[in-house]
Amino acid sequence: MNFNAEVVLEMTENHYLRSKSDDNGPQSLQILGIPVHVVTTEEVIELVREYMKTPRLHQIATVNPEFVMAAQEDGEFCRVLMEADLCIPDGVGLLLAGRWLGQPLPERVAGSTLVYRLAELSADESWRLFLLGSAPGVAEEAGQKLQMKYPKLEIAGTFAGSPEPRENEAIVQMINDSQADMLFVAYGAPKQDKWIARNRSALTTVRVAMGIGGSLDFITGRAVRAPGWVQNVGLEWLHRLYKEPWRWRRMASLPKFALKVMRDA
Ligand code: UDP
Repeated sequence: MNFNAEVVLEMTENHYLRSKSDDNGPQSLQILGIPVHVVTTEEVIELVREYMKTPRLHQIATVNPEFVMAAQEDGEFCRVLMEADLCIPDGVGLLLAGRWLGQPLPERVAGSTLVYRLAELSADESWRLFLLGSAPGVAEEAGQKLQMKYPKLEIAGTFAGSPEPRENEAIVQMINDSQADMLFVAYGAPKQDKWIARNRSALTTVRVAMGIGGSLDFITGRAVRAPGWVQNVGLEWLHRLYKEPWRWRRMASLPKFALKVMRDA
């Protein structure tokens, strides 16, 4: 979807939408008004290869039911998601919603997994990766860990910074000076996604930018992802709630999400 073009969405079938300005892009399923693209992890990798061939910044958002519910009450966040180039289905709740709406999504595309795949791809393609956000020192350590895993990976830079507007200009300058091709922003949603959207025309070298939530904490081992089998049975969210109980307030929106989607269906 072209950021500068007016966002025009066309109803194709029931809840599927396709951007009129990008007829070759993937289809999206509209869940409570928020687009979720019908893509697999492998398709995302191919799309990123395509994005890298065009000079503008492409924004990827890792959408889950919490995003969808937050966007119902946050107009700016809603607009950011509607204008993102790719909203990947990063939540088992979205897969259930797709089934209820009669338009199944093929699989969950986890942002925390995609971070590794895109770092590997960057190493193979000699794209420079910038890691922004998280607590001081975490991005630097995550960069080192990724370089140990993918020795050819070039880390353009790392910086904790903050999403506060007063730091905005200096951070954009730092990223532009680093000649980064790809940018991961770890300020948590919706701050990270708004930060990318706000700066997409000011970031002159970045062609792909993605909000990655707590992924740098996972890479450095500060946080631990659920075991594979827990992820496979769709209970990673429960594991996260067990490890980080303060999340209950955010997750309290999940039953509301389910009810709203069922009503919509
Ligand atoms: N974070 C940050 N600055 C902020 C808010 C959050 O650097 O102002 C970082 C925080 O340290 C963590 C990351 O954002 O590493 C992701 O936070 P969270 O786990 O809430 O994100 P989620 O994965 O739920 O989107």
